[in-house]
Amino acid sequence: MTPSAYEALPLCEPLQRVLRELEYHTPSPIQAQAIPLLLQGRDLLGCAQTGTGKTAGFALPILNALHENPRPSKPRSCRTLVLAPTRELAGQVGKSFTTYGKYVRFKQTLIYGGVGQVPQVSAMRGGVDVLVATPGRLLDLIDQRHVDLSSVEFFVLDEVDRMLDMGFLRDVKRIVAMLPAKRQSLFFSATMAPNIVQLAESILRNPASVSITPETTTAERINQQVCFVDREDKRPLLELLLQGQADADSQKLTIVFSRTKHGANKLAKSLCAAGFPADAIHGNKSQAQREKALERFRKGLTPVLVATDVAARGVDVKDVGLVVNFDLPNEPEAYVHRIGRTGRAGAEGRAVSLCADDELEYLREIEKVIKMPVPRWDDHAWHLEALADRHLRIKTGGGKAPSSQGGRRQGGGGGNRHGGGGGSNGGGGRDYSNASRRNGAGRRGPAPAGR
Ligand code: AMP
Repeated sequence: MTPSAYEALPLCEPLQRVLRELEYHTPSPIQAQAIPLLLQGRDLLGCAQTGTGKTAGFALPILNALHENPRPSKPRSCRTLVLAPTRELAGQVGKSFTTYGKYVRFKQTLIYGGVGQVPQVSAMRGGVDVLVATPGRLLDLIDQRHVDLSSVEFFVLDEVDRMLDMGFLRDVKRIVAMLPAKRQSLFFSATMAPNIVQLAESILRNPASVSITPETTTAERINQQVCFVDREDKRPLLELLLQGQADADSQKLTIVFSRTKHGANKLAKSLCAAGFPADAIHGNKSQAQREKALERFRKGLTPVLVATDVAARGVDVKDVGLVVNFDLPNEPEAYVHRIGRTGRAGAEGRAVSLCADDELEYLREIEKVIKMPVPRWDDHAWHLEALADRHLRIKTGGGKAPSSQGGRRQGGGGGNRHGGGGGSNGGGGRDYSNASRRNGAGRRGPAPAGR
């Protein structure tokens, strides 16, 4: 269904020619999915980050339409409006249109703040085919009647999550209200928090949905928890969690994340000594050693795998019921990758992060990225209320993080002794990343935060 070569896509010769020159032979996954849908005139909801080739994914079909259906520009108008959060991104998108549209006749300009408006006003005077703009300056020029959006045929909202983080929601809504009802709209965001989904639903009509970053979204089926503890108490707490997991389901596997290779080795050793068969994988192990460890893990011979982030990339094991962040990752995106190791193939999963004093900053960054507080689990002997309090106090927006006490009771195993608290998250069990590969996912209800 998705073409594996550009020649298979019904793009006009001027675009095929430039793609040959650029030596783009194979469409990237988002291009392969999005381009055919966009050529059919569908609205699109794309969950994708930069670096996935999404710019060509929307620029090529738009340029194709401009080539096939050339029209004189109306004064102060644009046929295509691309909204981007920053001047840098607007510049990059503009550059991509120039590159891909090398053999297409079209006029383009950029509008962004921080520079004088006179050249932008004069560039818009005769109208353009493609306008790439940041919201604030665009509204300024609209208010001064230098730009008119009533002829927009293609509307692209790029990096919506960043746009909202920068406080552009009202501006975006104002701009959308000025667009003609008959248009093709494209909406791209790296995350799909509820407010983003809501905005998408207010803009798109019967959109096709494509998702290229399933691992960077927080899976709904994953019951996430954070434990506030002293560093030296992490080891006994981990053992409690492993015992709870073994008691609840002896078939389930656990991945424990360590920040360092040395830490991973030490931890695996101490877990073995404590009666939890464990193996470590990290960058210092040979490929053969890693594969052997993974094989034993998959078969349940060593049901605990201690891993560093790099080593865990691409580990796709179905029966991982528990992920423990023994060390919090210093890159918030890694958190999403890590917890995505559980809750696979429709199964429920639990991800517990052990947060020590010097990791509060990491936790804050994580919560920013997933756009929700990680519920705390404090029903164990090592809980540090003072640390939990500090996290709450430092956090912007105040509000108490939800405790997962309800989950504890549902967990059934009795929290303290068994490391329970792994009850259902109460999630509806929808896997956005899979659903979104199919068309029409834009009709779903609000997605959970951070997705
Ligand atoms: P983007 O995610 O749109 O910022 O693109 C990321 C990078 O991938 C850019 O440098 C593009 O030039 C490049 N690129 C996009 N599509 C392809 C492709 N099909 N083949 C090779 N490179 C590509």
